[in-house]
Amino acid sequence: MRRIDFTNTQVASSQTARDINRGVVLNLIRRRQPISRADLARVSGLQRSTVSLITEQLIRERWVVHGPIGRLPRGRRPTFLRLNDRRAIIVADLRPAQTTVGVADVNCNFLSQETVPTSNDPEVTANDLAERIRHLMGIHSDLVFEGVGISLPGRFNHDTQRFIFGPNMGWPDFDFKGAIERATGMRVEMENAANACALAEVWFGHTEKIRDFVVVTVSEGIGTAVFANGQLVRGLNGMAGEFGHVPLDTAGPLCGCGGRGCWEVYASNRAALRYYHESGPGNDGLSFHDLLALADARDPLAQKALEKMARALGRGMRMMVTGLAPEEIVIVGELTRQWFRFATAIEEEVAAGFLVGKPPRVRPSEGNMARLRGTVALVLQKHFGPAAEANEKRSRGLRRSKVPG
Ligand SMILES: [Zn+2]
Repeated sequence: MRRIDFTNTQVASSQTARDINRGVVLNLIRRRQPISRADLARVSGLQRSTVSLITEQLIRERWVVHGPIGRLPRGRRPTFLRLNDRRAIIVADLRPAQTTVGVADVNCNFLSQETVPTSNDPEVTANDLAERIRHLMGIHSDLVFEGVGISLPGRFNHDTQRFIFGPNMGWPDFDFKGAIERATGMRVEMENAANACALAEVWFGHTEKIRDFVVVTVSEGIGTAVFANGQLVRGLNGMAGEFGHVPLDTAGPLCGCGGRGCWEVYASNRAALRYYHESGPGNDGLSFHDLLALADARDPLAQKALEKMARALGRGMRMMVTGLAPEEIVIVGELTRQWFRFATAIEEEVAAGFLVGKPPRVRPSEGNMARLRGTVALVLQKHFGPAAEANEKRSRGLRRSKVPG
């Protein structure tokens, strides 16, 4: 079985075979549940006795339960195993105008969801979000919560544990992660929204066998995640993937990052709204959702604005296609609701700049929950991947060690 390493580090050499096997078995149960011990042994190539030891441990730890649900007659051992869906994760998607917060179980079934306004003061947002989290935990007091996963419209530095780059948020430096952890008593994982979507693709999607793909999140800005050679690329300070801020025209419109003419000022939801207003209608306060509705109602100016956005998206994607040679480009965002309107223009632009062979497949993400699904994977990967576990141990060690000077 080929496993994908979700982190950008190698499996530590000191990692014991038992920990690795545990991750393999847990992942097999996750993907193939309900599954018998015999099948686990067959698919994993591990011995039956090893599988039995590991599954007993997973049952003791309440990660795995016997299934299907129901008591079997005395003396008979249930055969099938599945993940314990009483284990849950608090998920949040932080965006400039509003934050979505909810509860999902380990199988990524969403149990509740609500939205809170995002303030331009990070402390206010942290307090509001922490209050909603405590409220949700109270409603679902029968669940065991694993942690909180938050996707961000910017970059998160995993070394300093700080939200370091969010040009559309305009927040001053603030320990957002620490504030939520202190207020809720829960462990918090944060990740760039595009990276979270890439994790969702690998974790819940059909991208398991694809080693090179790119995720492009299109909303107020443009974020991208680079998954290369079967690994998420984070780069120095976690800043890899900021294609949205590559200037295409240094005399272009001002961008939230302080630069001019960045890709995102031509291809984001905000860009489409600007195109629409520039073409005549001066209706301020229009949302991207409204613009899609206008296009649907055959408003030619709205359709034109969206077409212009689609062309700009496709042209910008040539940077990634030419530089990274992905097999697939996955698009996340409100625009996927009217994918028919965008697909042709994007595909044409991508193909026009392609050098050799067949251009990559461009497709919308499945469903509109990619960011939230990604945060579920973000919290769970700590438990399901031996490489992730090794990485976690190492980063804990790093944080404990003193920095000279
Ligand atoms: Zn920019």
